[in-house]
Amino acid sequence: MVYDVVVVGGGPSGATAATDLAQSGHSVALIDRAGRIKPCGGAIPPRLIRDFDIPDDQLVAKITTARMISPTGRRVDIPIENGFVGMVDREHFDEFLRVRAAEAGADRMTGTYTGITRDKDGTHVHYRDKESGEERVLTTRMVIGADGARSNVARTEVKNGDKIPYVMAYHEIIESPGPRGDYHPDRCDVIYDGRISPDFYGWVFPHGKSASVGMGTFHRDVDLKKATADLRVASGLDDCPTIRREGAPIPLRPLDDWDNGRDVVLAGDAAGVVAPSSGEGIYYAMMGGRVAAIAAAAKLQSGMIKDLKLARKLFMREHKNVFKILGAMQDAYYKSDERRERFVSLCHDVDVQRLTFEAYMNKELVKARPLAHLKIGVKNLAHLTGVVAPTYA
Ligand SMILES: Cc1cc2nc3c(=O)[nH]c(=O)nc-3n(C[C@H](O)[C@H](O)[C@H](O)COP(=O)(O)OP(=O)(O)OC[C@H]3O[C@@H](n4cnc5c(N)ncnc54)[C@H](O)[C@@H]3O)c2cc1C
Repeated sequence: MVYDVVVVGGGPSGATAATDLAQSGHSVALIDRAGRIKPCGGAIPPRLIRDFDIPDDQLVAKITTARMISPTGRRVDIPIENGFVGMVDREHFDEFLRVRAAEAGADRMTGTYTGITRDKDGTHVHYRDKESGEERVLTTRMVIGADGARSNVARTEVKNGDKIPYVMAYHEIIESPGPRGDYHPDRCDVIYDGRISPDFYGWVFPHGKSASVGMGTFHRDVDLKKATADLRVASGLDDCPTIRREGAPIPLRPLDDWDNGRDVVLAGDAAGVVAPSSGEGIYYAMMGGRVAAIAAAAKLQSGMIKDLKLARKLFMREHKNVFKILGAMQDAYYKSDERRERFVSLCHDVDVQRLTFEAYMNKELVKARPLAHLKIGVKNLAHLTGVVAPTYA
């Protein structure tokens, strides 16, 4: 048979693309290599839960406070008003998404993608079947590359697909100690401290019975394991049993092109799409899968190559401004401990809290109280120019 679309990668982006395409009546195959749990903090915003119908039983914790911790140990607790941040366990969440794609009508293949060839009969996606070890070939009209950071599809099919800059992230999944000392199962801690990360941040994210403790950095000479061990000591979690240790890259910048001008479109981490500053990628991956599905369906119907561009266009129309602001924030505040101190200081402001949390929770830059944007702009400028000193704990 000839598939309408073969989706490579069954993480949040690929599974979403496969579900949407199958639901709209397309023939779809979803290839995932399986066997590895994606290293991830697992935090998802309410907008994701709403837009992608995530059932409550997928949430292993509901977070009601975010705590920002500065280099001097200042703690700013930001209450999450009118809702919560959901925490998912990627081992079960990704499988739930793949099962949902299959229930919608996608054919699931378990194996490792090995390449694409083309001839007069069409485009052929090659993969090694996990069970038999045999090479299999699927013929298709379109391919969606959703095989994550350092995507093989992107590297071989899309211009500059191998040139995405990455933060290296590492975390340890530990047994949760329950409420104790500085740890609370309903609170996410975000640690801005050059000793933990010189250019990103560290985190303690509760996952119900377990917790993710980790950090990321662009610097290749930072010892990620040592930084995480230090973070566990600083958070009073060094004596908790470790369940898993794992690392993975987080892409830093969306590619300029998400398609190959022919029959491939990328989605999620494969396209470099993760929010600057926060490293949040699950929502954007699912959104990326959705717009890739729209672009593939449009191209299948019209035959017009330009329809492939719809994926990036639709995505950026909605998220470009938030990405710009988060990118500027990362450039401005993740440079030095002095800047990090100022950043946490800024988080005291109730308007800053409301605006940043609305941008995270609902992916919208909301209208704030009259003059709030102006006030934040002035404060921001004052901090960046050093006109005001950070207030130390
Ligand atoms: C340590 C860490 C913590 C993070 N914390 C958060 C967080 O708290 N919240 C958040 O929103 N984001 C977080 N992220 C980012 C988030 O995990 C990613 O942005 C998101 O998983 C991207 O989804 P994706 O579907 O594009 O790619 P992935 O989730 O990477 O999925 C890719 C899929 O492709 C499959 N695959 C890869 N290669 C092949 C191949 N050759 N053949 C077949 N299949 C293949 C893999 O098996 C995988 O299932 C974190 C990332 C890291 C590294």
